[in-house]
Amino acid sequence: MTTLLETQPRGFVEKAALERYVAPAKPSLVGMSRAVLAEALGTTGVPEKQRKMRVQQLWNWLYVRGVTRFDQMTSVSKDLRAALDARFTLERPEVVAEQVSADGTRKWLLRLPGEHAGERPHEVECVYIPEAGRATLCVSSQVGCTLTCSFCHTGTQRLVRNLTPGEIVGQVMVARDRLGDWPGGTPPQGAIVPTDGGRFVTNIVMMGMGEPLYNLDAVRDALLVVADGDGIGISKRRITLSTSGVVPNIARAGDEIGVMLAISLHAVRDDLRDELVPLNRKYPIATLLDACRNYPGISNARRITFEYVMLKGVNDSLDDAKKLVQLLKGIPAKINLIPFNPWPGTRYECSDWDTIEKFSEYIFNAGYSSPVRTPRGRDILAACGQLKSASEKLSARERMALRAMAMTD
Ligand code: SAH
Ligand code: SF4
Repeated sequence: MTTLLETQPRGFVEKAALERYVAPAKPSLVGMSRAVLAEALGTTGVPEKQRKMRVQQLWNWLYVRGVTRFDQMTSVSKDLRAALDARFTLERPEVVAEQVSADGTRKWLLRLPGEHAGERPHEVECVYIPEAGRATLCVSSQVGCTLTCSFCHTGTQRLVRNLTPGEIVGQVMVARDRLGDWPGGTPPQGAIVPTDGGRFVTNIVMMGMGEPLYNLDAVRDALLVVADGDGIGISKRRITLSTSGVVPNIARAGDEIGVMLAISLHAVRDDLRDELVPLNRKYPIATLLDACRNYPGISNARRITFEYVMLKGVNDSLDDAKKLVQLLKGIPAKINLIPFNPWPGTRYECSDWDTIEKFSEYIFNAGYSSPVRTPRGRDILAACGQLKSASEKLSARERMALRAMAMTD
């Protein structure tokens, strides 16, 4: 039997065994595309020529009003409400824990069904990061991750399941539910949210657990729902998809979704990137950067963010900084330096403050706008890392780190 692993370049490990998603008997309407919603309406007997109008109605109740029960949909006939209720739900992922930090960061731990009855349910995280004038939601795309980046804790998780569009959109719905961000709602006491009269979630980053480009169809469908102007309406310029470099899907992401792109570069030489981001063995730096140059819609006004995790003595020399600037020449780019966020058992350490400052100064002087805007590079420490474990509290470092990761525009 040929396994997927045998066809991979040497040393490249991709977790082949994806767990299946088993749809519940009564699926949730949350996250369905308009086309799927129209089909769903078809199963309740709504004639084809009425479906578009009904979809629009449902869309409004779901994504503008945020209703959680069919009987709240007062503009929908009682019969149709009952028919929908018999077949569908309006459920979002189950929130099993909420942690609130003094700086307003909120982390929700979400429980998702597993494939097999009786097994431990899956958990993913979703983090809310409010800042002056904006608030970013860091969203997960998979339980675990298909890949095995050596500095990333998620990469060590064995189990992988792709999230469904409903579970991805559901993270935004959960955030808005918990923040009271629907008409007539009020934020929880003491919550830090934007105060300009707009929505409480203004930006989305696909930087939680998982590799979004290994779950492209679901991520696409979900982000198109999130960006839909008649619903949640977060503009595509305020949505950033981060990838470790799944080259064949980069153009597709641009064409089919059209959101902003972030690339987890982390190294400027193939030998080192092979080690840090093993996917590099399949799609080396030059190939990756070519895909970036050709990213649909790229321009000086729509730059690609290059993420670079600062690992002590590994990728943080001034030579690395120089090479980074050379490599990105000609690509409309931003650079996001992320202080490494350590986890138990990792062999890496975060670069020293001085080193990060020198690195950031070099790229700043080379003309790169990045979260490291202040001359002293203070904001840099506001960058950080990856969601570590589902049950741990976010440390101060993680919170600061997430803040920097979220600064993609
Ligand atoms: N899988 C995607 C998106 C999720 S990871 C990707 O790799 O891009 C989001 C970002 O966090 C990536 O840039 C990733 O490299 C970075 N990251 C992962 N673990 C980290 C850690 N321990 N410290 C700092 N950044 C980390
Ligand atoms: Fe997956 Fe991204 Fe972590 Fe790599 S850095 S293991 S691609 S989540």
